[in-house]
This record gives sequence, C-alpha cells and structure tokens, in this order.
Amino acid sequence: MFKKLLNSLPHWSEHCHPLPSLSSLNSKVDVLRLDQIDEKISGNKPLKLLGWFKYFLQQPQQVLLSFGGVYSNHLHALAYAAHEFSIPVVFIVRGWADQPLTPTLADCQALGAQIVFVDRQTYAKRYDRHWQAELAQQYDALVIPEGGAGELGEQGCALLAPLAAEYDEVWLAVGSGTTALGLAKGLSDLGASTLVVGVNAVADQGEQAKSWQKTMPKGVEWRLIDDAHFGGFAKCPPELVQLIKRYQQQGLPLDPVYTAKLIWAYEQSVLRLPPTKTVRTLIIHSGGLQGQRGMQQAF
Ligand SMILES: *Cc1c(COP(=O)(O)O)cnc(C)c1O
Repeated sequence: MFKKLLNSLPHWSEHCHPLPSLSSLNSKVDVLRLDQIDEKISGNKPLKLLGWFKYFLQQPQQVLLSFGGVYSNHLHALAYAAHEFSIPVVFIVRGWADQPLTPTLADCQALGAQIVFVDRQTYAKRYDRHWQAELAQQYDALVIPEGGAGELGEQGCALLAPLAAEYDEVWLAVGSGTTALGLAKGLSDLGASTLVVGVNAVADQGEQAKSWQKTMPKGVEWRLIDDAHFGGFAKCPPELVQLIKRYQQQGLPLDPVYTAKLIWAYEQSVLRLPPTKTVRTLIIHSGGLQGQRGMQQAF
C-alpha cells in the first residue's frame, strides 16, 4: 500500500479537479480527491500512517494497537495497511461486542484485526500514558494514538505540501489537527506562502486554536474556523444532509463528519471574498466515505 502510495505521489496533481460550482470571478477552486487515491484505503489516514509504520518497522514490538469508534476511518486504513505487511493489530473500540458489527469493523475483522470492545469510561482513558503502557505490555504492541495523531502522523501529511504550494489557500477538515500541522510544516520547509485554513469538525472550546498558536511553524499563515462543527463531532443536521445531496449530484461525494462541514464553511467564506483579486484555492477531500456505510439512510 505505502509503496503504491508513494509511487503514485508524483501523479497526485491528476487528482486535483476543478470545482466549477464554487469557482467564480474571484475564486478558482480545485479539489484534491484523496478519496480517489486508492480504491481500498482512501483519504488522509494512509498518509498519517506512513510515519508510524516506518517507525514501527524499526521497533521490537510485534503488534500495532490503536483506538477508534465503530466507524473509524483510521482503524479501517490501519487494518488494510497492517494486513499488507502481515502485522497483527489490536483495536480498542468504544462499543459493545453484542451489537452487530458496522461495515467498518466487519472489514477490519475480515482483515484479521482483533477487536476489543470497551465501555465509554474505559475508552475515555485512551490518552492516559499509564493505560497505554499497560496495553503496550499486555499485547507486545506499539500504541498508535487515536486517528494516527502525533509527530509521526504528521510526516506523511507533509507530502501534500508541494501540491498545496501552488495555491493561495489550502482548506482542509480538522479532527486531531495532525494533517493540517504536517501540511503546514511541509509548506514551511518549501518556503511557500499558502494560507492554511482548517475547518474544525470538533467543538473543542478553542483548544485546537490554542494549540496551533504554539505548534504551527513560524512563517506559515493559518486560520482555524471554529463555527462550522454543527454542534459537535459527527453531528449532522438536515442542512448538512441537503448539502451532501447537492454535491453528490455534482459528482463530489462528501462524508457528514468532516468534508461536508469543510465545504459548508468554504461556501460561507466565498460569499465574503473581496471582488478585487482571484484567489486560487485547493480544497483537500480527506476521504472518510467508508465510515458512513450503514450510518444513516439519508445518504
Ligand atoms: C481523520 C479525518 C480528518 C481529520 O484529520 P486530522 O489529521 O485528525 O485532523 C479529516 N477528514 C477525514 C475524512 C478524516 O477521516
């Protein structure tokens, strides 16, 4: 998977498609369809795993362990990647073993992942270093944080920078912020002046913005839009469902958790653009379409 991913990198500009409905006299919009890079593992998650796998292959542990929900794009990508390398994986999942598996978890299980269901309180400990150390020992595992976050997760995301550097602005959805941070570091290394605009999918009371003030590389201009989360992570009111249907008809499938909110926020902002100059924007479609299978009849 990673070899194929890296080999395909020089051709990623072919996955940048103009989006006429959002383009106008003062905006020219391309969408980078990371959802189309690979038929099985799409989106930003394989990029986030690149650094983690490189690191793991030099470590003594035999197993990879990570955390996620029952629709997790991260666990889905990790299951595929680990299967390709014949690495055993253990997934700590918030949920109940006696409920039917979601399509996401069914795929993971079919690929050999061992799924351990835990309740909400236990899952809440996923950032706890002590618990992570216990799990690491119990399973002889390297623990990858939820979503593939962290500096190792950023490394592969920096590979997006050369594409984004061609634009005035790059827009992307934000969960842990790892993809945005990796991209920003890549842009900084290139000395590019592209503005990074993150659309927060999480209602976090300004936590991410505070963190970016410390972690974003100097010299990179950025903005975090914090009012497009529609009430919080994975909340999808009818207005968002309408938007998803509207773009579906244009051949741009969106997921309700991340990319629909991204496009919504962009639509809002494009109305406010000054008519004086043309802004060239790259919107990163970070995938996530597998997660919504069986999630809601609406899609
Ligand atoms: C995980 C995910 C994101 C968020 O990426 P972060 O690096 O955690 O900010 C955005 N879009 C999709 C579709 C995702 O699955």
